[in-house]
Amino acid sequence: LADEDRESRPRLMLMGLRRSGKSSIQRVVFHKMTPTETLFLESTSKINKDNIHSFIDFQVWDFPGQMDFFDPTFDTTAIFGEVGALVFVIDSQDDYMEALARLHSTVVAAYRVNPNITFEVFIHKVDGLSEDYKIDTQRDIQQTTTDELADAGLENVQLAFYLTSIYDHSIFEAFSKVIQKLIPQLPTLENLLNILCANSGIEKAFLFDVISKIYIATDSSPVDSQSYEICSDMIDVIIDISSIYGRAAIGAKSQGYLEDQQDQPEDWTHQQDGHDDYEDSNGSHGHSLSQAVVSTSSRAGSLDNQPVQSGGNHEAFSVIKMGNGTVLYLREVNKYLALICLLRAETFEKQGLIDYNVHCFKEAMDQVFELKRAERTRREMEANQ
Ligand code: GDP
Repeated sequence: LADEDRESRPRLMLMGLRRSGKSSIQRVVFHKMTPTETLFLESTSKINKDNIHSFIDFQVWDFPGQMDFFDPTFDTTAIFGEVGALVFVIDSQDDYMEALARLHSTVVAAYRVNPNITFEVFIHKVDGLSEDYKIDTQRDIQQTTTDELADAGLENVQLAFYLTSIYDHSIFEAFSKVIQKLIPQLPTLENLLNILCANSGIEKAFLFDVISKIYIATDSSPVDSQSYEICSDMIDVIIDISSIYGRAAIGAKSQGYLEDQQDQPEDWTHQQDGHDDYEDSNGSHGHSLSQAVVSTSSRAGSLDNQPVQSGGNHEAFSVIKMGNGTVLYLREVNKYLALICLLRAETFEKQGLIDYNVHCFKEAMDQVFELKRAERTRREMEANQ
């Protein structure tokens, strides 16, 4: 392995038998491929490393299924040494006995080298299973795996299990939970989000990695899938619209909210038409909604991996008011992260307060990550001495 591979950034490794769905997961989550396109993916036959330069800089290692840890040329220390999370994918639609044996030997080999790895089992392709069967499958896999590890004297190894499918949001939610374990600042971020929600009447706030639509933190109120889905769809809408109409289109919505955007796509166009007038008359105002701009280089369906970028002084900002009285409020936090809040329309009447609190939140975030950078630089300097 080259030196650069040993960089001490959190590394996420994806493993599993051939055809279990690893490449599909990687493409859908990190490269915006649609689930149906994965039908034509060629099966992985070599170690395929894919560096994802998103907020967390994690790496996806796509291992072919048939790999022998007991082969002396196989350097387990190099491979597992710096892994943060090992995600093992099991095809739940197939007979999974072989996969479970593989999972067992992988956990044993990896744990020996690096007991700090978090082991994450994706019971995958559950879109094909009935509700009852899903639960039975999870119970069976969980039971067998933990029993076997206990028999091998590894009862302390923690494994987490997730039911996943690329055909819905479950794969993103599972990744969110996996990634969150790798973020040392998570408690601080959650705390900041709690403060933000409490002081602004926000019902739910997510901090999203825009590229992957993984949320890296949320306030401590319970997450219901629906709010997650709506926020993650909002990112798609913003990215799609801005790639079709450019920055102006997103700025446009600022003059009036979109009612029920899902049902009335024409509204976007309509709003866009009105935009120029608005910009002309109000464009010079300082911190006003007229600054609502999303600029993006991410094209829907493209395989490139570009973050939503802030253009100049503009930062992505968008508000969608839904027919049911809920407001979605999105604001770019930095190059990779966006804050999305769900709140009631009544609460949003005090938008000045919310804008201000979000501004404070962003400043606090900057400080958190500035500290992290300073810490890393300090450690690097110490290591070089
Ligand atoms: P790999 O060899 O582990 O990389 O597996 P692939 O990513 O090539 O996937 C094998 C097949 O499984 C492909 O035909 C995918 O379309 C399919 N697949 C992947 N994920 C899912 C899923 O969540 N549900 C279903 N039904 N099929 C999936």
